[in-house]
Amino acid sequence: MLIGCPREIKPQEFRVGLTPNAAREAVSAGHKVIVETAAGEGAGFTDDDYTAAGAQIVDSAAEIFATAEMVVKVKEPQATERKQLREGQVLFTYLHLAPDPDQTRDLLESGVTAIAYETVTDRTGGLPLLAPMSEVAGRLAPQMGAWTLQKANGGRGVLMGGVPGVRPANVVIVGGGVVGTAAARVAVGMGANVTVLDRSIARMSYLDDIFMGRLTTQFSDAAAVEGLLERADMIVGAVLIPGAAAPKLITRAQLGQMAPGAVLVDVAIDQGGCFETSRATTHQDPIYEVDGVMHYCVANMPGAVPRSSTIALGNATMPFMLALANKGWRQACEDDPHLLDGLNTHAGHLTYYAVGKALGIDV
Ligand code: NAD
Repeated sequence: MLIGCPREIKPQEFRVGLTPNAAREAVSAGHKVIVETAAGEGAGFTDDDYTAAGAQIVDSAAEIFATAEMVVKVKEPQATERKQLREGQVLFTYLHLAPDPDQTRDLLESGVTAIAYETVTDRTGGLPLLAPMSEVAGRLAPQMGAWTLQKANGGRGVLMGGVPGVRPANVVIVGGGVVGTAAARVAVGMGANVTVLDRSIARMSYLDDIFMGRLTTQFSDAAAVEGLLERADMIVGAVLIPGAAAPKLITRAQLGQMAPGAVLVDVAIDQGGCFETSRATTHQDPIYEVDGVMHYCVANMPGAVPRSSTIALGNATMPFMLALANKGWRQACEDDPHLLDGLNTHAGHLTYYAVGKALGIDV
């Protein structure tokens, strides 16, 4: 199969769909791989890295869209890219169609067979192609929160790990899923005093087991959140209610109960945020202050570390990419119901129920 990887054109996107290692695996399996020149630059991969892996560098994305049987990307295709997609071609990337009627219409008109990373499932009901980005965002959260806690950035000037004789920072993590667990790992590693709130007893039991007393778990209700506000130096928002906007767990009125310069890191901002005062920010201008409390609400946190993020995503997508290339999309999806869950459009038909329901289109 001819596999193509164009350079990402969405603003501030530095990841790339295929790593040189993934290209090498595909070439070893007998496929031809073409990569747009400089596609890997933002993630620190040179054209020479791809050439050494057996891929061929091409000058334009147009050549890739015109010839590749499968296009592998990171972000949803932008309007100019969508015009170049066609029936008989497979597109393997993040799509997030439910809130995006324009993209959905264009993909249906193109006839492309679009397989979305975010709806591929695994045996435990998890989302294996979303999880690596949650891992990255979770691990970044205490790191960015610690930076925001510094005085020069508006924070209250508290060191995460404290020093002998000086207490460490109190870090509260709301939501103990993939993001919350990764955030807890780093916050504990930095020496902070960590409390994780969740509504799932099973999840708290898991955290209790793996952290062996290094953090406290607490059931997440309004009283528990309120009770922790006064002494929290940092609160990380990491809740997810599948298919719904994030619940608002801290109101603006409650900010007055927090210490001046305390920090809210709202990782759930891509689902609307779990603090009333959260609004999406960018890596260029990541923080702002409301009523004395600092907010960090970058909607695309993994974009801060495109090299790590690209490799983490590439590791997760590679087996699926190879199955699609080796067997063709139809056989690969027939053999693997979890990959089939990723199928969102085919030959002008919408094939994913939740997207159809959200957009009022028959599936
Ligand atoms: P997850 O499903 O693994 O975990 C969510 C957890 O929230 C679950 O354990 C659930 O029990 C818990 N929860 C639900 N309601 C709660 C409540 N009221 N109080 C406390 N806990 C509650 O999801 P995840 O992968 O960890 O993702 C968490 C959030 O981070 C999502 O909104 C996701 O979209 C977002 N995210 C953002 C970025 C970014 O760059 N900003 C990157 C990755 C993920």
